[in-house]
Amino acid sequence: MSTATAKKKQSGRAVRPLKIRKDDLVEVIAGKDRGKRGKVIRTIPRENRVVVDGVNQVIRHQKPRPASRATPQTQTGRIVKLAPLHVSKVMLVCPRCNQRTRIAISFTPDGKRVRTCKKCKEYIDSV
Ligand SMILES: [Zn+2]
Repeated sequence: MSTATAKKKQSGRAVRPLKIRKDDLVEVIAGKDRGKRGKVIRTIPRENRVVVDGVNQVIRHQKPRPASRATPQTQTGRIVKLAPLHVSKVMLVCPRCNQRTRIAISFTPDGKRVRTCKKCKEYIDSV
């Protein structure tokens, strides 16, 4: 049985890479953290979600239980965790013009694929 290959074609839709990547600076545009800016810690392309530093904090009440290999005992009590939020709730902050912006894909003269700011037309990724 190959469960690994079956997982890829979940519900028949393709997993597209997100326009937002790890280490990008983003601004939250919806929800309780609206207006906050933070760095992307992790992206989850399969769910279209991102984890942003300092955004969408939830408090987990972790009960003490014996540590196992699957769940190593780290901390108990009130733990502040960062919950993933949907990519539609955040916008990339352009490192050049410092505005939140949409992203265009363009190509450099030597054919490299780079993300471009729709506002100032500058490259977001280093070339
Ligand atoms: Zn810009």
